[in-house]
Amino acid sequence: MLIEHAPKFGLEAAVSLARELYGLRTTASTLPSERDQNFLLETREGEKFVLKIANALEERPFLEAQHEAMAHIAAQVAFCPRVVPAISGETISSAPSGANLVRLLTYLPGAPLATAEPSAALLKDLGRKIARLDLALAGFDHPAIHRDFHWDLANGLKVIDEYSPLIPEKEIRLLIAQMTTAFEQDTQPLLPNLGRTAIHNDANDYNVLVGPDSTVQDRNGGDSNTGLGVVGVIDFGDLVHSFTVADLAVAAAYAILDKPDPLAAAAQVAAGYHTERPLDKNEFAALFGLIRLRLCLSVCLAAHQQRQRPDDDYLSISQQAIRNILPKLAAINPRFAEIRFRQACGLSTTANLNPRPRAETLAERRKLIGASVRLAYQEPLKIVRGFMQYLYDDEGDEYLDAYNNVPHVGHCHPRVVKAGQEQMAILNTNTRYLHDLLNQYAKRLCATLPAPLSVCFLVNSGSEANELALRLARAHTGHRDLIVLEHAYHGNTTTLIDISPYKHNGPGGQGPPEWVHTAALPDLFRGEFKREDPQAGTKYAQEVSKIIARLHASEIGLAGFIAESMPSVGGQIVFPRDYLAAVYSLVRQAGGVCIADEVQTGLGRIGSHSWAFEAYDVVPDIVVLGKPIGNGHPIGAVITTPEIAASFDNGMEFFSTFGGNTVSCAIGLAVLDVVLDEGLQAHALAVGNHLLAALQDLKDRHAIIGDVRGSGLFLGVELVRSRDTIEPATEQASTLVNRMRNHRILLGTEGPFHNVIKIRPPMPFNIADADRLSETFARVLKEDLNI
Ligand code: PMP
Repeated sequence: MLIEHAPKFGLEAAVSLARELYGLRTTASTLPSERDQNFLLETREGEKFVLKIANALEERPFLEAQHEAMAHIAAQVAFCPRVVPAISGETISSAPSGANLVRLLTYLPGAPLATAEPSAALLKDLGRKIARLDLALAGFDHPAIHRDFHWDLANGLKVIDEYSPLIPEKEIRLLIAQMTTAFEQDTQPLLPNLGRTAIHNDANDYNVLVGPDSTVQDRNGGDSNTGLGVVGVIDFGDLVHSFTVADLAVAAAYAILDKPDPLAAAAQVAAGYHTERPLDKNEFAALFGLIRLRLCLSVCLAAHQQRQRPDDDYLSISQQAIRNILPKLAAINPRFAEIRFRQACGLSTTANLNPRPRAETLAERRKLIGASVRLAYQEPLKIVRGFMQYLYDDEGDEYLDAYNNVPHVGHCHPRVVKAGQEQMAILNTNTRYLHDLLNQYAKRLCATLPAPLSVCFLVNSGSEANELALRLARAHTGHRDLIVLEHAYHGNTTTLIDISPYKHNGPGGQGPPEWVHTAALPDLFRGEFKREDPQAGTKYAQEVSKIIARLHASEIGLAGFIAESMPSVGGQIVFPRDYLAAVYSLVRQAGGVCIADEVQTGLGRIGSHSWAFEAYDVVPDIVVLGKPIGNGHPIGAVITTPEIAASFDNGMEFFSTFGGNTVSCAIGLAVLDVVLDEGLQAHALAVGNHLLAALQDLKDRHAIIGDVRGSGLFLGVELVRSRDTIEPATEQASTLVNRMRNHRILLGTEGPFHNVIKIRPPMPFNIADADRLSETFARVLKEDLNI
């Protein structure tokens, strides 16, 4: 791409050009521009003009094309500049140096859209005016606008590919990579079906001028009509023959900057556009992808241009606002954007959704699905789509998912989806055949764990993995008895209910069998030994010591100890720092093995470490992995030492039909890649610390918050009726979670009293999401709970 250096004429030169070429006596002041040099000229009578001195590389035929376009549309649109000929009759003159071409245009009053107070009426008017401009340009053509132009969205992917490595911030590069991948999958196939015409291609918020406009009315009501409308669309320097809808995409891309709900703002622009120039099916489907592409393109070209011209502030004029909005846009599924756009234009959206009424689905489910399979929330949700940290209901409403840790790298993460789809089309079979994906996945999983954890078994769920872990422990030790923690949950099979006090001591439970021994949960808030007690870890470990002594006295051998490294169902608990090391040592001395259930906590969620046990400087003998490693695809894994694996190899084959199948391995590998490539562990730490601080601050202001704890994106907020008695505020916790759901933020409760709010979002959950969560949390405490 050629870098055009804007000319450097002085004000006097502009004044004399105005006099000599146009016979005008004016004053001159500078106007901003990316490639040309623009001057505002003003006569003594107050008449204003724009003198444009083109950069030396600008070609005459292209300037002629611009002029012809402006002349072509003049009868239909009053809000674009017109060309003022020189005394000689020419519309394009040469500056005395001969290197630069000079033109004079009428001046349009108004303030840049970027500086205007946004309103729905104004955004719709923007859409209407761009549509009128497109309709007027539709009949125009010129050979010079059929050009290979870096701002043409038809070249977007190519230009982004070339310049994105120049972007200094890694997180912005990753976001752009994510959005371009989505574009390739989602929008690019639609491009051949998009109509093409001459388009303005640069209705950015500095090229759109806003002023009083009596024709603007907010036809939909609900928004105060400020009487402001679009009174100018200037700068035809990016004129190109391309997708007509790209004009709308460009206008919407800049109009949504700094808006709290960018999709709603874009939908308003689209709605205005649609009233004048109805969008077709493909244009609706491509619009959001093109909006994102334009902003990504802008960041890439700015990075390139800033290298060439580091002192030019105009080049970075929108860059901060674009950087702020990219994470939000990256998180929106293009298909949901399409639905929003169609809704805003009053069109049917149900074709893309599940149209069945919720009540019907609920009634049918009650007959078909066992009642013990519970629904969340007093008013159940009918979720029909997911994308990254967002879920969408059957009406297209978006929910911030703040507690589902299964879609670890984000609901329907495009790379994970693609990996699964591609492998599914090639081969899906089991571990009885050699396949490199199986070895590769096992190798990569084991590499995340410390020595000597190096032998892998792949299964399909956390339950299946814990079952196997138990068999390994028993095979290795020759004993049956197990030590578990109070309130623990390890899975849904008969044996796992036996080792899950949360279940066997809860409603419908029948208590533990004789081979299960329950130790106190080292809960520094609600347990016997509190956070203030520096000996708490040792004291809780003594509970395990006592159990071992009892077993010893009864001459019963110990198979092992199982615990989540940070118990989740138990109430989002973080152990005293020295607890696990003490317990592991006691268990090993007694001949048992130590099993770490990392089903909830694994793969970077806690921010500081990849696996939660690492936070306590211990190495288990068996590690159980589940939920997050498959990002929603059913994968479980057990990783152990070569010795334990050898003990289990006693002649009986172990076979899990679907465990380690080819598709699962491809998906598991994609998840590991995304965690690394998107820096999700460090992200979890940064966002988690930010949220933790905001929640601590809430605790200082609201007595109902007894404790705030956790690590990374594994957090708990414990509600109490009184901080003195720490009586659990179970009812309030339930109310809070249901009110948060009404504010479209999804949380759940945990802990033996269901009074701990669990926060375990998909890892792309970002700072803006964290702020939204803590602000809404505060609002619900105040407005709904009166606390
Ligand atoms: N271990 C823990 C700690 C869990 O939380 C769960 C599920 N909630 C399981 C094991 C069982 O996993 P799954 O539901 O995949 O069988």
